[in-house]
Order: sequence, then structure tokens, then C-alpha cells
Amino acid sequence: MDFGLSEEHAALQEVARKFVDRHCPPARAKEWDEAGAYPEELFKAIAEMGWFGLPFPAEAGGDDGGAVELALIAEQLGRASLDIAMCYIGTLIPSLTVYKWGTDAHRADITERMLTGRSRYAVAMSEPDTGSDAAALRCRAEDKGDHFLLNGQKMWCTGAGLPGTTIMMYVRTSKGDRKHDGISLMLVDADAPGVELRQQPTLARHILGTYEVYLTDVVVPKANLVGGQDEAWKVMLSNLELERVLMSGGYVGVAQATLDEALDYSKQRVAFDRPVGTFQSLAHAMADMQVEIDSARLLAYRAAWRLAAGLPASREGAMAKLKGSETYVAAARLGMQICAGHGFSTESVMSFRWRESIVAPISGGTSQIQRNGIARSMGLRSY
Ligand SMILES: Cc1cc2nc3c(=O)[nH]c(=O)nc-3n(C[C@H](O)[C@H](O)[C@H](O)COP(=O)(O)OP(=O)(O)OC[C@H]3O[C@@H](n4cnc5c(N)ncnc54)[C@H](O)[C@@H]3O)c2cc1C
Repeated sequence: MDFGLSEEHAALQEVARKFVDRHCPPARAKEWDEAGAYPEELFKAIAEMGWFGLPFPAEAGGDDGGAVELALIAEQLGRASLDIAMCYIGTLIPSLTVYKWGTDAHRADITERMLTGRSRYAVAMSEPDTGSDAAALRCRAEDKGDHFLLNGQKMWCTGAGLPGTTIMMYVRTSKGDRKHDGISLMLVDADAPGVELRQQPTLARHILGTYEVYLTDVVVPKANLVGGQDEAWKVMLSNLELERVLMSGGYVGVAQATLDEALDYSKQRVAFDRPVGTFQSLAHAMADMQVEIDSARLLAYRAAWRLAAGLPASREGAMAKLKGSETYVAAARLGMQICAGHGFSTESVMSFRWRESIVAPISGGTSQIQRNGIARSMGLRSY
């Protein structure tokens, strides 16, 4: 058993750490969040590092990288903010999905535009009436011979409004015996005729933005179908484990950064003639939080290692997602208490951490849904 990083992994971690210090330190991430800014230069810088291409095969311009490398990058990007980690994960995972299930033309497009940071994907599963119960989606696509005609509404589509975005639209093409049947995936340009976006007002996630997507008689050529018609449920699930692992990496990074910031503050802030961090109540709380973060990190690394080794990681991925997301919420809540009045000021980075932490146990599958999966793996049918 070996709990250390290899030399290569340690070097990658260091490069990613420096990347964040240079391109997206937390205070800059907060500014982008508040301005709702699109950090085009960040996407380009990530692409220039070769990180969007990392897990792709060499013939696609990639490096055949695995889950451990990707999780290490996500962890460091998470130090900036969850939203910054999602700039990476939210582009990478859909690209991998389309690459796996798409046509040669889709793959060529990924190599030319996605891996170079010129374009990106957004994913539209959720609708006003369906979130956790994704298979209940109702947006419909009528088969019109050489094209589909789309009508309906999507919700919470992260990044749909960023320039050059193609939306991976999960729609109902037929009514099967089960709700999981009859779903298809098609690629729809966010600026196609009949597509209307409205940015949702949210507590955070303002860098990527989350959007309602209204579809009115949108014409989608059959060439835009990814995977078989009516068969997208398996497509949807195909990268779920990797997505959870990478999100877990992001949570661990941002939770650690949050605790580090609270710790620094507690060493400098003086009350009753001593640094507040030396009050045992705060010192123990921070010690406990470090234990929580280390636990989350170990779970994330274990899940990444299993995926890289080609082992099943559904249960481990769910555990890592559950623990990492809840730990970020707890770290941000503790950070606010330690920074006290300074944290409550919206000028503080801690207030940004707290604001954006709330979404961690919601998006990408809620904590309850992760627990359901873990309970199922224990032979319990949990509702
Ligand atoms: C910032 C943000 C970004 C997002 N980005 C995207 C995106 O890019 N693309 C996309 O398609 N979606 C996206 N989502 C949607 C996200 O996936 C859903 O919000 C999430 O799956 C939960 O769905 P819901 O909000 O509809 O809650 P619901 O499913 O309505 O759940 C409500 C409550 O019931 C609980 N619950 C539901 N079912 C069960 C069950 N079986 N057992 C126990 N408890 C249950 C939930 O845990 C929750 O507490 C995003 C959401 C947010 C907030």
C-alpha cells in the first residue's frame, strides 16, 4: 500500500498549483464571479497546458492521461473556486462523452475546437419538473425524417450562455416501456434559431452562469445525434463516475483552501491579547476540519485510483462526492465563524466561499442521491 504521489503526479500537482497562483487566485475568481465575467483567457490557458486534451488518445492530440492526473488538476483548480474547477470539468467530461459516442465528424470537432479552448459544451438534462429524476425528462424531439424538431424547456444549464457553446441536449424521442428508454442526445448550438436563453439569478456559479433554455421548433439535423436514437440513457451514465471523481477533487481543493484561509486569519487576528486560533474551541474545530478534508481527499484519490486501474468505482465515486461536497460546506461555515464580522462582509473571499459552497451537495447529484447509491451498493433499496 502506498499513500504517496509518484514523482510525476507530484510534479503535475506543483505545476497546477502555480497555474492557479498565476491565472486565477481566489480573489480574482471572486471578482469574475461578481462581474459575471467570462474568463476567456483562463479557458485558453487551460487549453495551452494541454489539460483539456489530457485524457484523450494520442491520435486526438491527447496524452492518454487517467483519472488520477485529472483529479489532481481539478483539486488545484478548486483552490481558486468551485466554479473555476467546473470551467475545467464542465468542458472535459462532455467532450469525453461525445468523443466516446459520437461520429468521426463530432470527434474532429472536439479535436479542433474543444481541446483548443475555442469552444465548449454545456449539458442540458434538468428541466423545471425534473432534476434528480433525470429520466423523467419531457423535452420532446419529433423525428421529421432528415431532422428532429425540438420543443420544451431545460433548466440549470451551466455555461450555456458562454460564447461558442454547443448544448448537449437530452430529449425524449419516444415513449418506451421504462422512462429511461426513448431518450436521445443531440448537439444544439446555443445560438441556433428557436433557442432562447435566460440566465438564472443564483447565489453563485456566476462565472459559468446557469441558464434556462427555451426550445421552440428548433431544427436539429440527424447528423447531430450522439449515440443511438432512443438510447441516450447509457450515454448519460457513461462518464458519471469520472465526473464525480473530478468534482470530488475540486471540492477537496476548495475545502482545503477555505480552511487554509481561515487558519491564516486565525493566526493573525488578535483578541484578548492572543491570536484567535489559539483559543482551543477554534483550534480544535480547525483540527477536526483538517481530518474531514483529509478523509475527503483519501476518498477522492481512492475513487480516482480505482477508475485509473479499470475497476468499478460507482460506490467509491458516490462516497467521494458525498464527503467532498459536504466537507466544503462545513469548511466554509467554519471559516465564516472564524473570520466572523470580516467574513460576513461581502468583500471577503470567505463570503464567496460560503456562497458557492451551498451548491456543492446539490449540483451533479444531491447528497441524498449519493446516499441512495451507496445504500444500494450495500443491498438496501433506499427511497
Ligand atoms: C448551480 C447549478 C448548476 C447546475 N448545472 C446543471 C447542468 O449543467 N445541467 C443539468 O442538466 N443540470 C444542472 N443542474 C441541476 C442539478 O443537477 C439538479 O439541481 C439536481 O440534480 C437536483 O435536482 P433538483 O434541484 O430538481 O431537486 P429535486 O430533484 O427536486 O430534489 C429536491 C429534494 O429532494 C431530494 N430527493 C429527490 N429525489 C430523492 C430520492 N430518490 N431520495 C432521496 N431524496 C431525494 C433531493 O436530494 C433534494 O433534497 C444544476 C443545478 C445547480 C443548482
